[in-house]
Amino acid sequence: MKIDLSGWKNRAGGSARFVLTEEFAPGWLDWEGCVLHSPVTAELEVLSTGRSFLVQAQAGAELMTTCALCLAETVQSFRFSFTDEWLTAEQAAGAEAELLETALVCAQDEVDLDDRIREFFLLHLPMRFTCRPDCRGLCPSCGADLNDGDCSCRREETDPRFAGLLKLRDGV
Ligand SMILES: [Zn+2]
Ligand SMILES: [Zn+2]
Repeated sequence: MKIDLSGWKNRAGGSARFVLTEEFAPGWLDWEGCVLHSPVTAELEVLSTGRSFLVQAQAGAELMTTCALCLAETVQSFRFSFTDEWLTAEQAAGAEAELLETALVCAQDEVDLDDRIREFFLLHLPMRFTCRPDCRGLCPSCGADLNDGDCSCRREETDPRFAGLLKLRDGV
């Protein structure tokens, strides 16, 4: 995913919109069992201020992952937005130290977004996904998927602290 700034880098006030799509190998994003399941898409609004480029971006993809509760495979759409400030090498040469700390400095006038977007994916991904908001998960004793219905051990479950009392009551 690349954006060429050379055509308008010196025009302060100029802006442009980019819509990018790129198909990466599923393992390009490999985090806690999450892999890509669609091309990555990104929409960027880039504004040239003369001293830098201000960027508003939205990016995302479909991810294949495992539900944290029932362990089923699930495809989840995941999108995030971020703002960025870019400097060409030329702009960076005259920039204040403070700006250099937070801005992205481009090697040439072409910005390669791959690492940047991957970094934002990793920053924004939740610690766990669930297949649906009301997933009931697995039974802790028999492992049955409770989304398919109740298992029998659930109903017969007895608190061990009451087992002695039940014996007394039943005369065994
Ligand atoms: Zn689930
Ligand atoms: Zn069970």
